[in-house]
Order: sequence, then C-alpha cells, then structure tokens
Amino acid sequence: LVLRVLEEGNRDGGVAINYLRAEQVSKDENDRVTGVLLKDQLSAEQFELQANVVINAAGVWTDELRQQLGENKVIRPLRGSHLVLPQWRLPVAYSVSFFHPKDKRPVFAFPWEGVTVVGTTDLDHKQSSRDESSISAGEVAYLLAAVNQQFPNSLISESDVIATYSGVRPVVSKHSSKQEADLSKPAKPSDEKREHVVWDNRGMVSVAGGKLTTYRLIALDVLQTAARYLNRKPEDFKSSTHFPETDHVMASAHINAPQIRRLKGRYGFGAERIVELVDRKPELADKVLTSDTIFAELVYACETQLVVHLDDLMLRRTRLGLVLPKGGEAVLTRVKA
Ligand SMILES: Cc1cc2nc3c(=O)[nH]c(=O)nc-3n(C[C@H](O)[C@H](O)[C@H](O)COP(=O)(O)OP(=O)(O)OC[C@H]3O[C@@H](n4cnc5c(N)ncnc54)[C@H](O)[C@@H]3O)c2cc1C
Repeated sequence: LVLRVLEEGNRDGGVAINYLRAEQVSKDENDRVTGVLLKDQLSAEQFELQANVVINAAGVWTDELRQQLGENKVIRPLRGSHLVLPQWRLPVAYSVSFFHPKDKRPVFAFPWEGVTVVGTTDLDHKQSSRDESSISAGEVAYLLAAVNQQFPNSLISESDVIATYSGVRPVVSKHSSKQEADLSKPAKPSDEKREHVVWDNRGMVSVAGGKLTTYRLIALDVLQTAARYLNRKPEDFKSSTHFPETDHVMASAHINAPQIRRLKGRYGFGAERIVELVDRKPELADKVLTSDTIFAELVYACETQLVVHLDDLMLRRTRLGLVLPKGGEAVLTRVKA
C-alpha cells in the first residue's frame, strides 16, 4: 500500500526521496517556519529547502521536529512484533483472530506471501529510536504461547520461526492531553487510543497516530489544516478516488491471470512495465523460490523504486528477506545477477 501510494504520488508530480533526513526546522525572526534543512544520509550533503508549509509525518520520530519548536513530547512509542512461520507448519486458509490466553488481547495468524504470520505484541518501546526495532525473547514466548493455545496440535517452537519483524506505532499518548490528571500512571499500552492527531505550529503541520487503513482521511485532515499556508480554503481539498483505474487488459504468455491481478494491485500502471520485462526475458517470470514474488519485480524495483542497499530490495520493496529462510541467502547470487 505504501509503495503504491508513493508511486501514484510520483505520477501526479510529487517527488519521493529516501535516505534524506529532515534535520532542522528553519524559522524566521517571528518564529514562523520557513523550510527545513535536509541531510543526505549517504553523501552527508546538506540542502536548505524553503516552503510555505512543512508537513511533518515522521511517525514515531514526529516529536523530534516538534520539539525544535518548543513543543512537548506527545508520542508514546509502542512496539508490535511478528513471527513468520513456514505455511506448512501453520496452514491457515485465512486470517484467524483470537484472544491471547494471558491478557485477552486480540492476536492473529494470517497467510501472507506464501508464509504464515503471527502477531502482534503491544508494549512500550524502550530501544533507541535510532536503531531498527526488533523482537525481544519475551515477545517470542508470548506469541508462541498464543499459537500453541489456539492450535494445540501444531506444536510450534522457536526453531520453526523463519524470521521476525517489529514496528513501532506512533501512538499519541493520553498523557499529552491536559485533562489527564495522573501522569505517573501510564495507561496500559492496549488502552491507548489509536486516533490520529494534527498539530498546526506556525507553518509546520504535524500528524501522528492513526492507522494505515485511515490514511486517506488523515491526509485530508492534514491538507485542510495546511490550506491556510497555501492560499487555499479547506473546502478546496476533498476526498477523491482511491487509485486510478488500471483496468486495461494485460496479458502475457509467461504469467497467468492471478499473477497479473496481483501485479496490478501492487504496482498499478507499473505492472505493465513488469509484464514488458517478462516478455523480453521469460526467465524473469520465475518465482523467487517459495515466495509469490517473481524476478521481474526485483528488476522493476531497481529501475524505479530507489533501491540503494540490498535490504531496501529484500525487506522493503519485496519481502523476500522475511519470507525466505536465512533472509533469502539461497537466492542472493541470482538476485545479484
Ligand atoms: C506492529 C504494528 C501493527 C500495525 N497494525 C496495523 C493494522 O493492522 N492496521 C492499520 O491500519 N495500521 C496498523 N499499524 C499502524 C500503521 O503502521 C501506522 O499507523 C502507520 O505506519 C503510520 O504511518 P506514518 O506515515 O504516520 O508513520 P511511519 O509509517 O512511521 O512513517 C514515518 C516515516 O518518516 C520517516 N522519518 C522519520 N523522521 C524523519 C526525518 N527527520 N526526516 C525524514 N524522514 C523521517 C521514517 O523513516 C518513516 O519512513 C500497525 C503498526 C505497527 C507498528
């Protein structure tokens, strides 16, 4: 979903750039935000960017830029982790949601990209926000306990786990609300509300919280808040269609109809380029081992999706590093080629 949104944004004239960090908010003498200082994380080169409005959608790092404007910390980083299992070890046909025996939180198992994923946890993230988040031994035990309670015959153990992954939710804490009286007793992580919040600070509009599923509503809220800096009225921004139609006929002698459907869903208009690659070089239609990904998707990612490091390709453009054993070690030679 995120990659598709980025691609559609590029098609509409936007520019998405990775490895470029907003380091410093620039202000004029009246404390009005005038832009940001950006730093290329690869070359260390810096760029001063001027803008009528800066939108700060930095997830769990939203506070870092807001604090430069003298604002208080409001984000409570809550980590969620997952186990990736071979599908044959827990062959669920669809998502199964159930309550954890220990704390009655809803947890789930679902089929995804040829594997089964079990998730998730919800706990305060105390690791440094500069490091990649990762699962703890306690979370592994918690998720295994849930699976083995729900599917007692499966006898899943740590040795079955192919990979794990974690993310940090940018939850806006109840503590940030002035009405909250007792700041010394934080709410249970799962009791924190997941709604998004938009802040308007003299030329910088920040947004955090919410859900991926509500991203369009969140974006609209942000644009309507930013309207006054752009000489526009909030009503100028309205909800529009989700993604443009890609309902044109596409066919290939080398990939079947369900695969084409998958490619269209993931890449929109980019699916045409992938089919073109396959038609030119049929071996690119091969699936990468047991995954649903075909080799042409890797070529497409390298051509158009700003792949810099191998982990961009294996973890964030495709999910091969998660769904194949040992991060996809067995296919790296062919991937490199
Ligand atoms: C474990 C887990 C499970 C979830 N499950 C669901 C679910 O089932 N359904 C659902 O709808 N949502 C779910 N969510 C929530 C969803 O993932 C988040 O709401 C969403 O990712 C938030 O998007 P965001 O763009 O605000 O922040 P993020 O996705 O965190 O993106 C922020 C981006 O800003 C970048 N950034 C940070 N600082 C800077 C800087 N200074 N300069 C430049 N870039 C910067 C970061 O690198 C990052 O790419 C889940 C989240 C987690 C962690």
